[in-house]
Amino acid sequence: MTEEKRFGGLDCFKLAAAFLVAAIHTSPLASFSAEGDFIVTRVIARVAVPFFFMVTGYFLLPQYLFEHSMDNRPLRRCLKKLLLLYLAAILLYLPVNLYAGQFSEAGIGAFFRMVLVDGTFYHLWYLPAAALGVVIVWFLGRRMPFGVLTGICFVLYLIGLSGDSYYGLAEQVPALKRMYEGIFSVSSYTRNGLFYAPVFLVMGAGIRRGRIKSAEPAGNLAGFVLTLGLMITEAVALHRLDLQRHDSMYIMLPAVMFFLFRALLAVDTAPVRRFRELSTWIYVIHPFCIILVRGGAKAVHLEEFLVENSLVHYLAVCAASGVGAVIGSRIFARFSVFGRKEQAFEKGRAWIELSREDLARNVETLQGLFSSGELMPAIKANAYGHGAVLIAKELQKMGIKAFCVACAAEGVELRRHGITGEILVLGYTHPKDFGLLKKYRLIQTVVDLAYGKMLNHYGRKIKVHVKIDTGMHRLGERAEKSKEICRIFRLKNLQIEGIYTHLCADETKDAADQAYTKRQAALFYRIADRLEAQGFTGLKTHLLASYGLINYPELGGDYVRVGIALYGVLSDRKVGENHPAGLVPVLSLKARIAVVKDLYQGESVGYGLDYTADKDRRIAVLSIGYADGLPRSLSGGRGRVLIHGQCAPVIGRICMDQTIVDITGIEGVKAGESAVLIGRSGKEEITAYELAEGAGTITNEILSRLGERLERVVV
Ligand SMILES: *Cc1c(COP(=O)(O)O)cnc(C)c1O
Repeated sequence: MTEEKRFGGLDCFKLAAAFLVAAIHTSPLASFSAEGDFIVTRVIARVAVPFFFMVTGYFLLPQYLFEHSMDNRPLRRCLKKLLLLYLAAILLYLPVNLYAGQFSEAGIGAFFRMVLVDGTFYHLWYLPAAALGVVIVWFLGRRMPFGVLTGICFVLYLIGLSGDSYYGLAEQVPALKRMYEGIFSVSSYTRNGLFYAPVFLVMGAGIRRGRIKSAEPAGNLAGFVLTLGLMITEAVALHRLDLQRHDSMYIMLPAVMFFLFRALLAVDTAPVRRFRELSTWIYVIHPFCIILVRGGAKAVHLEEFLVENSLVHYLAVCAASGVGAVIGSRIFARFSVFGRKEQAFEKGRAWIELSREDLARNVETLQGLFSSGELMPAIKANAYGHGAVLIAKELQKMGIKAFCVACAAEGVELRRHGITGEILVLGYTHPKDFGLLKKYRLIQTVVDLAYGKMLNHYGRKIKVHVKIDTGMHRLGERAEKSKEICRIFRLKNLQIEGIYTHLCADETKDAADQAYTKRQAALFYRIADRLEAQGFTGLKTHLLASYGLINYPELGGDYVRVGIALYGVLSDRKVGENHPAGLVPVLSLKARIAVVKDLYQGESVGYGLDYTADKDRRIAVLSIGYADGLPRSLSGGRGRVLIHGQCAPVIGRICMDQTIVDITGIEGVKAGESAVLIGRSGKEEITAYELAEGAGTITNEILSRLGERLERVVV
C-alpha cells in the first residue's frame, strides 16, 4: 500500500470521531439506558480526541523527534492553524458566553484558566491543549531520546489519570489531594495539554516511525476489540465504585488507541481530503447546533420528539452539524484566504526548471555504477546553481542520506529547511563559526594538522572527516606525513567518522592519468589500513567524485561525492558525450520575452551600439542578463536562445538584466512568451556544454554561477 493510501482510513475516522464528540455532548442513549449511554459516550466515544492528537503526532512530529529537523515552519504552521481556529471559535461562541453570563468570574486567574486551558466553551479546551501538547513534545523531543520522552509522557498521563477517572483513589492520600487541588485551580481537569495530549502525540509519531506494515490488520482489530472490552470493564467498575471525578482518561485508553490507529492505517482506501475539513467544522459548530435544535424544537413545539428522545436529538444535531459544516466550508472556501488553493508556480521574469524525473534517473544510474557504498551528493554552490534546498529535498525523498557542501553556511541553510542525515563541509570553516558546526550537526573536514588543533581547541566534540592530500596538493594533510595524521587522530575533541581524499587526474583514462590516479588511491588506502591497524576502526572512506565514479568505480569507498554528473552533465562535452552512462540534464533555464519590436535597417541596438541592422529586423528583449549568470562573453552573436523551437541569436552586448535577440523570421513571437537559454524547445536543444564552450569555460562554472534571483521550480 502506498503511504498516501494509508491516510484514507484516518480521513474516514476523522469524520466518525467528530460525530463521536457530538455524542459526548448530547448523550444519545440517555433516554433509554443510563448505563448504555455511559458506555457509549463516557467510554467508547473517548477515543475521538486522542485520535485527533495521534493524527497530529503522526504527521507533524516524526521530523522533529527522529530526524531532528531544524525546519520549524511545519510546527509554526500547525500552531498558527490551531490558534486561528481557536480565535475564530472564541468569537463564534462569544454571544452564547455573554448570554449565559459565563464571564462573571473576574480576575486574571480566571481569564488565564478559561482562555489558555479550559477553553472558553465546553468543547474548546481541545485547541489550546493540542497546541500546548505539541510544543511540550517538540521541546522535550529535541533534548532527549524518544524512549525517555515516551516515558515522561506516560508519567504525565498517569498523573492526569489519577486526577481524572481515578481521583476517588488519589484523593485518599492527603499530599496527592493537595497537589491536585493546586492543579485544579489552574485547570478544571487534568485532561489538558500537559497531562493528556503528549502521550497520544508521541504514540502517533512512534507509529509513523515504526512504519508498521499492513500485513496484520486482523491482529490490530482483535487487539482493538480486546482492549476496548477491558476499557469498558475498567470504566464501568470505576463508575460503580463512584471513583471518577471525570471520565476522559483510563488505563486502557493508550492501548485501545494503539490498536485502533494501526487498524485504521491498514484500511486500504484513498485519502478523502474533504473529510478532514468537514470534521473540523463539525467539531467547532456542533454545540451551536445543539442550541439550534433545542431552540428550533421549542419554537415549533416539537420538544417531545426532538429533544426528549435523546437518540433523535443526537441525530438531529448530527444532521444540523453536517449540513452546517458543508455550507460553512463552502462559504469559507469562496471568501477566505484559508480556503484558497495553493497557487501554482507562476513563472516570472527568468527561471530555472528542474526535472524531478531526470534527477531520479541520474541518481539511479550513478548508484548503479557504485556498488561499494552510497551516494553523497555534492550540493555546494547552491547545488551547482540548481537550488540547494530544492535539490536536497528531492534527493532526500529518493532516500539519499548524506550530502556534502563547500562551507558551513550552506550546511546551515539545508538544516534550516529540514534536510536531515549527514552533511559534510568540504572546505574551511572559520573558528568563529565552529558553533554552527555543533548546533547544526555538520561534519567538518580537517584540512591539516594545524586546523585539527584549532578545532580541538574549540573545546566541544565536533564530528569530522580527515582529509588526506594524496597528490592534488590542495586541502588535506600530506599522505606521507603519517606522524601528523596520527596526531590528528589523537586530538580528543575530534569525533573522527571518516577519512577522504580527492582525485585530480581522473578525467581521462590516459596512461599517465591512470597511473597518477592509481597512485593516489594506493596512498589513500595504505593510510586507511594503517589507521585501522592502530585501532581506529569503523572509519568511512571516500575518494571518488563524478569522474572518479565514471572512470574508476573499482576504487570503491563508502561514499562517492558525486556533483556535476548528478545534474546530468559533465564538465565538458568531450567527456560528457563519450561516456555510456546516459545522464540527462536536470536543469532548463528560461526567460520571459519582455518586449518585441522592430529594428530598422541602419539602426543599432544596446550599449556601445555594438550591433547595427543590415536590413529591417524584428528583435525581442529577454528579461535575463549577466547578473543572472548568463555569461557576458556570449554577446554579439556568440550565443543563441530558442523561441518557438527556433534559433534566435544574441545581438549586441548582454546587459546586467536584459539580453536582446534577433527573432527575424520566427513567426508570431509575442511579449509574455518564454525563451529557452538552456534546455529543449521543439526539436532544438541548447546544452550547458554549448554555453560553456561559447564562454570558454566548463559547465560547472556556467551552472554554479546561475543567479540567486532566478526563480527555481521542480517540475
Ligand atoms: C566539488 C567537489 C566534489 C564533487 O565534484 P564533481 O566533479 O562535481 O563530482 C567532490 N569532492 C570535493 C572535495 C569537491 O570539492
